[in-house]
Amino acid sequence: MLPTIAISRCLVGDPVRYDGESKFKPKLIKKLEDIFTLIPICPEVEIGLSVPRPPIHIVERKSVLKVVVIEDSDRDLTEPLQSLAREKAKLQIDGFILKARSPSCGLTSTPHLLENGTVIYGAGIFTDAFHKANPQIPMIEAEMLESPQQFKKFIEEVTAATTNC
Ligand code: SF4
Repeated sequence: MLPTIAISRCLVGDPVRYDGESKFKPKLIKKLEDIFTLIPICPEVEIGLSVPRPPIHIVERKSVLKVVVIEDSDRDLTEPLQSLAREKAKLQIDGFILKARSPSCGLTSTPHLLENGTVIYGAGIFTDAFHKANPQIPMIEAEMLESPQQFKKFIEEVTAATTNC
């Protein structure tokens, strides 16, 4: 049986991004489908946001990171995305491949706008909550899989996680 890997849904070609587009990576997806069973997940759609939708970003408020609608900063989506992540962390999956820079799905590359006006880079709100709920699941941004070394390392991590189950 192939390992089961969750993946940001826009990467498999579904037009679920805020702008109604996808971020399809056909060569990568073909390669992944040969070795994994892929389960596409779009956190923003699963919490009920429309396609298209107003873009969101991560801001610091009272020393806590929040994800809000850029044009309507009172619209705070942090709790729904964290709650969904805790639910998804209960799935029987062997790894998670994520869309870089997304305020929901990024792993290390998502901009965080801090209260002092500086920007640092880290995880999206969904990914952060997922990892906290289930730190054993190997996670990687799709762009990193373009490196053969990173691709091999991810497969090894998935295999190790599967073996340890
Ligand atoms: S990056 Fe994540 S939240 Fe954004 S469209 Fe892709 S799957 Fe959905």
